[in-house]
Order: sequence, then C-alpha cells, then structure tokens
Amino acid sequence: MILDGALATELERRGADLRDPLWSAKLLVEQPELINAVHRDYFEAGADLATTASYQATFEGFAARGIDASEASRLMRASISLAGLARDEFWSVASNRVGRSKPLIAASIGPYGAMLADGSEYRGHYAVSDAHLRDFHRRRLEVLTTAGADVLACETIPSLREALALVEVLAEFPTTVAWISFSCRDGEQTHEGQAIAECAAQLHDCAQVVAIGVNCTAPAHIGSLLRHLRSGTDKPLIAYPNSGEHYDASGKHWHGEPGAASFASDARTWYEQGARLIGGCCRTTPADIRAIKAWARQLSTPTS
Ligand SMILES: [Zn+2]
Repeated sequence: MILDGALATELERRGADLRDPLWSAKLLVEQPELINAVHRDYFEAGADLATTASYQATFEGFAARGIDASEASRLMRASISLAGLARDEFWSVASNRVGRSKPLIAASIGPYGAMLADGSEYRGHYAVSDAHLRDFHRRRLEVLTTAGADVLACETIPSLREALALVEVLAEFPTTVAWISFSCRDGEQTHEGQAIAECAAQLHDCAQVVAIGVNCTAPAHIGSLLRHLRSGTDKPLIAYPNSGEHYDASGKHWHGEPGAASFASDARTWYEQGARLIGGCCRTTPADIRAIKAWARQLSTPTS
C-alpha cells in the first residue's frame, strides 16, 4: 500500500502560513479547501491512503486558541470528512479507478509531544504519568474512532511508553484498528532510546495493531530499523520517512539537506525488508509518492 506524503509541506507550498502551535490543524479552521486540494494531489500521485490533518488537532491545543470542546470535536471530525470527500471526488472519475483499489482514510493520531508543540515528539521523556497519557489519547480517540476513518495512524511516537499507553486505550475501542509508527533517533532506537525491536515485540500481541513501523525519521535509518522491527514481529511493517532534514522546534522550521537517495529506489529496498505500507512524512511531496507508485507499478506488471 502506498501512503501519502507530507501534508504541511504541501499546504505551505500552496501559501498557507503554518507557524502556529496548531500547525496544519489550523487550516481546519481557516482554509479547509486547501487540505482537500492536497489530499487530492496525493491520490492523483498514486496514494492508496490519505492521512488526515488531525495530527496536531487536540482538545488542549484548540482550547489554547479559545476553541471550546464541542467545536474542537467538530473540527477533528471535519479532518476525516475532508479526506473522505477528496477521496470520493477522486474516485467518482472512472479513469481514476483503473488498476487500483479505493483509497482508505487514516485518522492521524499525533503523539502527546505534538500537542505540546515544543518538538518533544522527537525527544520523548514526557514529564507526565502513564494515566495522563492515556487520558489525553482517550479523549481524542472517543471522537476520531467514530468519525468514519478506516484505520488510526498513531504516528511519530517517540517512546515505547506512549505506544503502550495508546494500545491500552485502543482496547477500549475494540472495533478500531491502528498502526503504531515510531520516530527514531538512529537505525536502532526510538527518539527516547528504546530498542525498536523491543517495541515491535511488545506490540506484536495486540490484534488491533495491524502494522508497526517508523515515520518522520531520516531515510538513511529506515533499512536498519526495518531489520530490527522484523526481529520483533511478523506483522506488516510500515515506513514513511521524512526527507532527511532536521526539525528545529524553537524556530519551527526545517534545516539541513534532504537525504540523497530517491524514494523510488529506497522503496524497493524497504519493500524487500518487509515494508508493506510505504510513503513519506515531513518535507516529502507528491513527486516522491509518484516515484514510489512508478516503482510499484513495475512490481505488479508481468515482465514477460
Ligand atoms: Zn513528519
């Protein structure tokens, strides 16, 4: 399955100003039509799935902007209906249905650190209890599990502790399935420092977790991380790295050079290492998704 790429990067390219603690969720309030357009771009590039603009959409974050709980719920639901609408518009054109299955909608569940908006999704070590983490996630899952998404994308999770808090809460919504994707500091460990193989092993027995993997991590680390993940689970693996640039939380911008490798050739390697859901995270574009799609098309086309 081919995932989409960065939402925020594309929104900025279309002129949105995302320098805000709500990040792309800000546009749910101000310019929902831009979100719709970016989802459509990714379907056209070949994505089999859209990840919603709910990554940083939280009750706490909206409250800080004077948005009350009922309006916050409405905006979170709107992130899913926007993606669904873009999907349905795309799918209504007969030529778009040739040789592919109807794209799915994944509700983005960002980590606790994304709500803090201080870059701690790339550090972990939250100064709150497990119960507090569960309460934070439960409140949002109560909304996002009933809004029509096909799967929850629990993504950029910096620690095993937060992943375990999430699966505990997930059990309270037994008909919901999710993928759990970690952000990692190197080819072996989450940002907080747990071995990724151990993370995979600890999530392996949770039937509601349909894929385990890594996102928002430099492409150079993905191969090694997939090998370690595979040693802990035989579930489908998921990989959607960022461009390889680094995020500066204080200045709220990305710096450095993108990784040299291309998504098309990397996708092949990641596939061979067990990744069955492949896409891009921050700073990736529809061109990257198109490159993965071109490679995947070769894979599914008989050569003789
Ligand atoms: Zn990212």
